[in-house]
Amino acid sequence: MGEVLYHGKKYYEPDRRAQQALVSAGIYSFRYYPKDRLVVASDLTVENLGCRKFYDPVPESLVEELIVPEDRTLCEDLFEKIDSGEKRVSTTLRSSRDQSLIRLTVTITDWDEEGKPESAIGIIEKPDEVTVSAELVRALSDDYHSIYYIDFDNNEVTPYRLSENIEKEYGAFFRSKPEYGAAMSGYITRTVMEEDREEMMRACSLKNLREHFAESKVYVHDFRAVRDGKVVYCRMKAVNLSSDSSLHKAIFGFSDISREKTRELERYAYIDPVTGGDNYIRFKKKLEEKTEKGYIVSMDIHSFKVVNSICGTTKGDEILREIWRCIVNNIGERDLAAHINADHYIIFYEGVDKEAVSERLEMLTIQLGKRSIELNVPQQLPYFGVSAWEPENKIEQIYNEANIARHEIKERKDINHAFFSQADASRILQEKQMEDAFEASIRNHRFEVWYQPKYNPDSEALVGAEALVRWRNSDGTLVSPAVFIPLFERNGMIRYLDEYVFRTVCSQQKRWLEEGRKVIPVSVNLSRASLYFQNVVERYQKIAEEVGVDPSYVPIEITETAALDDKSIRQLANRFYEAGFPLHIDDFGAGYSSFATLNIMHFDTLKLDKSLIDYIGNYGGDRLLEHTIALAKELGMHVTAEGVENESQVAFLQKLNCDSIQGFYYSKPLPLEEFALKIVA
Ligand code: C2E
Ligand code: MG
Ligand code: MG
Repeated sequence: MGEVLYHGKKYYEPDRRAQQALVSAGIYSFRYYPKDRLVVASDLTVENLGCRKFYDPVPESLVEELIVPEDRTLCEDLFEKIDSGEKRVSTTLRSSRDQSLIRLTVTITDWDEEGKPESAIGIIEKPDEVTVSAELVRALSDDYHSIYYIDFDNNEVTPYRLSENIEKEYGAFFRSKPEYGAAMSGYITRTVMEEDREEMMRACSLKNLREHFAESKVYVHDFRAVRDGKVVYCRMKAVNLSSDSSLHKAIFGFSDISREKTRELERYAYIDPVTGGDNYIRFKKKLEEKTEKGYIVSMDIHSFKVVNSICGTTKGDEILREIWRCIVNNIGERDLAAHINADHYIIFYEGVDKEAVSERLEMLTIQLGKRSIELNVPQQLPYFGVSAWEPENKIEQIYNEANIARHEIKERKDINHAFFSQADASRILQEKQMEDAFEASIRNHRFEVWYQPKYNPDSEALVGAEALVRWRNSDGTLVSPAVFIPLFERNGMIRYLDEYVFRTVCSQQKRWLEEGRKVIPVSVNLSRASLYFQNVVERYQKIAEEVGVDPSYVPIEITETAALDDKSIRQLANRFYEAGFPLHIDDFGAGYSSFATLNIMHFDTLKLDKSLIDYIGNYGGDRLLEHTIALAKELGMHVTAEGVENESQVAFLQKLNCDSIQGFYYSKPLPLEEFALKIVA
């Protein structure tokens, strides 16, 4: 800024370099001081337009000398508006000198404490440059650290404003008005980061600028520079000053956009692309700052896949956003939430107790249900796992616990959330270990077959046995089937185990037969999951054949529930029967006892469950047993009682003509060697 004195008072004017840049663009500047009604013309304006330095008072003095009388009111209006505080006013007038059109634009730049305008910058432009000036002013008013005026016709770069850094190091170079090519390559090799140089060269090439200016007056290119050893993000903005798309004059502005860029990068790193809300990384960051306890919730939606396959993924994403909105409405100010991926979300409830968490989740479920109806989309049914979090906890661990709790109830429709318990976790860990150990255990014969004898209560003769599996741990201890059978039934491994037991029993029977012993039938259990094994009947038949033992020596036990369930199972059971395997209906009376079952399948023996035996001595229990046994006999079946533990039970069953008894009263399941002693030659 330059300084001038007028009537003993200091006034300012743009510095000469800036003036020069403006004049090169055909723009002449002045300053206007509303309180003094004074215009101070810039030196270059005085030189180029041959006008006075000071005009006082305004607008009268201006109008007299520079404007045709017909345009007097236009000029007066302009200054009146500025005086009354309008920020920028522009008008086109005719010059009294040569009658040519000039455009006058005045912009207030300073205000006093009461908000009254104190000074303004004015520019005078020739008509053909009028369109250009707006862009120039806009470009200049932006937050650019360095601004250059480039005259392509004369191949000359004039700095308008230089950032502190550039000024310090290259000020002299730029002020020497270098050629465009030299200025750019100088700038690029000195400041632009090496990786971005080639691209920047291309961006600044005349060819590229022409291409862009053919479509738009403004061209923007971002690059990285190195300053004080640090990477800064910069933006170059080139504004074409030519009235058409040709390349004559342009303004180049350079600014530091590191802050915006960092914010943008952070946005990408922390914002979930589907919901526009926080992602897991942001969630973790926010949680790390928490000092109060709370609960972490892992949320999933039942069969969300259906939504995607029925409605498509676009609609699917829309529904995920709706779910997100419901979550956001559900949580309080101090709570957190994030979309993890697919239909998984995470929530943190701060400083609440279990009951409050349950309530909130219940509300969220209702809310989602309502929203599904409003949107006419498949019902969105969430389920949650919850685990307690304390500031010293690791988020991953707690989230994992919440996931475990959630998995536990995945198949359940009666509850929608569960809290993590250490017992669940140990069980899951144990199950994982069992799954891992399964194959090797089959190979190394760690599964043992034990035999529980069945006796005829009248003769007390050994009439049969049931094969029951045990798992031998590496430390020698035995694991009960109650521990591992349910797991292997769930993961489908049971079929390999059942087949292994069956093969073992077949081979054993064969050995005893070869030894000439009096062999009794040893029944094996066939789980429901095994029944789904492809060609299970053929496989079992083939094994028996290979080993060379008649199927009548290895009856098959199927539980009543499996027998009841499903038509195809009934057909399978019938095929076992046809293949010559005696079929025992196991655990009769344990589940939903149905006498109908007795009639529809070719069962040869009915096994009364221990729960029925336990009722002996109770009037109702006794009658039930009487009728069940009578009916089974009526249908031509044998009856075996399981879980018989005392003499009175034996006596009662004997009275009812029960054919055989399997229970601790006679014998517990025995290891092979002990049982073998009972199979006499
Ligand atoms: P299950 O087939 O009903 O076998 C009878 C169960 O009752 C056996 O338990 C047996 O030890 C027990 N038991 C027999 N008499 C008494 C008694 O007087 N009192 C008491 N308290 N219990 C008695 P175990 O060996 O623990 O087997 C449990 C279940 O595991 C079996 O019930 C069966 O469903 C299953 N299982 C065992 N081995 C196999 C197998 O190889 N394959 C399949 N799929 N399941 C098997
Ligand atoms: Mg059984
Ligand atoms: Mg049973």
